[in-house]
Parts: sequence; structure tokens; C-alpha cells
Amino acid sequence: MQLRLSDSDLAFRDQVRAFLSRALPADLRDKVLLEQRLSRDDLARWHRILDDQAWAAPAWPVKWGGTGWTGLQQNIFREEMAAAFAPEPLVQNINLAGPLIANFGNEAQKAFFLPAVRRLDIWFSQGFSEPGAGSDLASLRTRARLEGDRYVVDGQKIWSTDAQLSDWMFCLVRTAQEARPQKGLTFLLIDMRTPGITVRPIPTIDGDHYLNEVFFDGVEVPADNLLGEEGRGWDYARSLLAHERIGIARTALTRRRLRRARHLAEQIEAQGDGLAARDFRLRIAALEVELRALEMTALRAIQADGTGGPDPSVLKLKGTELQQASTELLVELGGPLAMVRQTEWLLGEREHSLAPTDTAAATATYFQLRAASIYGGSNEIQRNILARKLLAN
Ligand SMILES: Cc1cc2nc3c(=O)[nH]c(=O)nc-3n(C[C@H](O)[C@H](O)[C@H](O)COP(=O)(O)OP(=O)(O)OC[C@H]3O[C@@H](n4cnc5c(N)ncnc54)[C@H](O)[C@@H]3O)c2cc1C
Repeated sequence: MQLRLSDSDLAFRDQVRAFLSRALPADLRDKVLLEQRLSRDDLARWHRILDDQAWAAPAWPVKWGGTGWTGLQQNIFREEMAAAFAPEPLVQNINLAGPLIANFGNEAQKAFFLPAVRRLDIWFSQGFSEPGAGSDLASLRTRARLEGDRYVVDGQKIWSTDAQLSDWMFCLVRTAQEARPQKGLTFLLIDMRTPGITVRPIPTIDGDHYLNEVFFDGVEVPADNLLGEEGRGWDYARSLLAHERIGIARTALTRRRLRRARHLAEQIEAQGDGLAARDFRLRIAALEVELRALEMTALRAIQADGTGGPDPSVLKLKGTELQQASTELLVELGGPLAMVRQTEWLLGEREHSLAPTDTAAATATYFQLRAASIYGGSNEIQRNILARKLLAN
């Protein structure tokens, strides 16, 4: 495996670096650095800056704003963005809704949605999970029946990230009852302002609001908002996995956190507690070794480019374990001050924070990332996938 970047990839990296140091607004960089929440306006501003550079959606088809970069270049871009504390583009838009519409939408849908999705003029949420249909997604029961030129939707979604902010939802619904539950599923693009939709918040342990229940009560969706063919929803949802895998290990974010952990350990040492600092250093070093191994595994996956290589489930599993371990370490390094609930801090208040800036968001991030082993396919499910593949041989 080639670990050193070629001259042209080094030149590409320098080009990305130069762009980020020129174009990333200082206030956005600060918020990301301090792990404060970005508002919709913040994120839209960043999407537009990236889109003006034609870099908002690197992996999309070139015709619709993709860059045509190699997998390695896309990885360099992600790593440089993380190292520069640039906001991550909205996953539902760039990794999910965009590829879904670009691959399966008709020309009118592409022309209407894709530019707006890139620029975050439209915010999408993902409507897959339901009570009783998470890991077993195929058992979902939200129904849509065709009546004339519209579908009428009844049912409920749950855990819908950012549904309270979203303008549209790409929603998996049941349009037919078939012997195999995977059959009869269909994608609809649903305007969230349609009468009959109720969004209810689910508060999370980190003191934030991004999760929701969404109820559909006789919601009328124009048949033009059918995505692709009726009954092919399961195939389309599976194809999304390929896009969810992009950067799923999120190694650059973990590296950033371990750098902060090193800095905090140095402070503890400087305050005279050499014993505690030594213990933390050992733990940081152990995580750094694991992270380096994961980075190389991710690079092997990128170089294999879908033909063999490590299974994406390994990246998801190990990546989320390291995200959780690194945030746990940061809470411990922060000590009692990291335990102060910092909801105001998350929302942008800095003046009256009790904790130093290095630890102010530590506990909230720790709590938030407990969910990383659940979303995107739970880690138990990833272990099942690996067991089936590896033990079957
Ligand atoms: C923060 C967060 C954001 C999310 N955002 C969205 C979103 O935007 N849109 C959306 O549609 N969904 C979203 N989800 C939902 C997510 O996809 C589901 O939570 C996930 O698929 C698990 O489903 P479930 O919660 O129903 O748990 P279940 O499937 O009921 O699982 C419960 C437990 O049983 C285990 N388990 C289940 N089946 C098996 C098995 N066969 N073998 C071994 N163990 C098993 C699971 O690993 C888990 O530990 C989000 C979830 C979270 C936590």
C-alpha cells in the first residue's frame, strides 16, 4: 500500500489548504474549534462558500456539481477540512438526499433539488426509522396509497435528525403488502410544510434538540414526488449505504480530539500532577496507535475503491469505538469542570462559561457520541454482518 502522497496529491492538498485558510470565516472556525452548535444560517453560509468553489458535493456526478476527484483526493479534502476546523457539510443533504436524487430522480427533480441541496437552500431530513423498525427497517409500516394524482401518507417516523429544521424529507413508505417485506417499499419526497405533518421533539441527554418524532395523518403528496419507481425503495436505500460509508470512520475528527487530549495532559503535568499526566499519556498513546491502524485500514478501503478491500462495517465499528473512547478521555481530562452542564455554551454563550474552553463542550460531545454506535446501523448489526462474511468462509 502506498502511504506517501504523490507530488500531484501533495499539490492538491496545498490547494485545499490555501482555499481553507482564505475562505473559512473565522467565526465559523471558532464555533467548530470550541464544539459549539452551528445555526442553520452558519451552515448555509459555509455550503454557499464551498459551492461557489464547486466543492460542496465532491462525490456527486460531475454534471450535478461533483468534482470528479479520486477517492484519495476526497479523503485529503475531508482531512484538511477537519484539521482546519471547517464545518462538516450537512450529511443528510450531501451524503444522502443528493446521491439519492442524482441516481434515481427524474430530470425535473434533479434540476429542482440538487442545486438547492448543495447550497443548503433546502434542508433534508431522513425518514427511515419507525417505532419497531430500526435495525429491522424492512418491517416499516408507514403507508402511502395512491389516490388519483397523489399519495396519501399515514404513519410515524422516529429519530428523524433535524426534522424540525428540514424543508423536505426523503421518506421510505410502504405502498404494497408483499410476502417479502423488502418488496413494496417506495421513496417519496415530502414537503414538510404539507398539512397533516406533526413534528415532536425528542430531547437528548446532551441537552440539545436534534431528534424528532414525525407523524403523518392523511398527508397528501403529489405523485410527481415519487422518487424513481414505486416498489424499488429497498434497492435505492441499500445503494445509499455506499454513500454513508464515505468517511464513516471519521478518523480526522478523532485525531483532532486526541490532539486536544495531549494538550490537556500537558497542562496537568505543568500543574505538577505528573502521575496523572503519565497515566493519561499512556492512554492517549494507546488510542493513537489504534487510530493509526484505522487510518491505514480506511486508506486501504479507499485504494480498493469498492473492489475488495476492508469491509465498511470494520470502519464503522472501530471508528465509532474510537470516537467514544476519545470523548470519554476528554471528559476525564477535564475533571469536575467537564461535568458542568453547558447548554448555553453549546448555543454560543461564552462569557459566563464555568469551564475552560478546552473542556466546555466535552460532556455534551461525550453524551452525543454515545449514539454513534447506534446510528448508521448499530454496532451489533455490524458485528453480525462481519460474522456472516468472515465466518461463512
Ligand atoms: C442520534 C441518532 C440519530 C438518528 N437519526 C436518524 C435519522 O435521521 N433518520 C432515521 O430514519 N433514523 C435515524 N436514527 C435511527 C437509527 O437508524 C436507529 O436507531 C438504528 O437503526 C437502530 O434501530 P432502533 O433504535 O429501532 O433499535 P433496535 O433495532 O430496536 O435495536 C435495539 C438493540 O438491539 C440490537 N439488535 C437489533 N437487532 C439485532 C440483531 N439482529 N442482532 C444483534 N443485536 C440486535 C441493536 O444493536 C440495539 O442495541 C437515528 C438514531 C440516533 C441514535
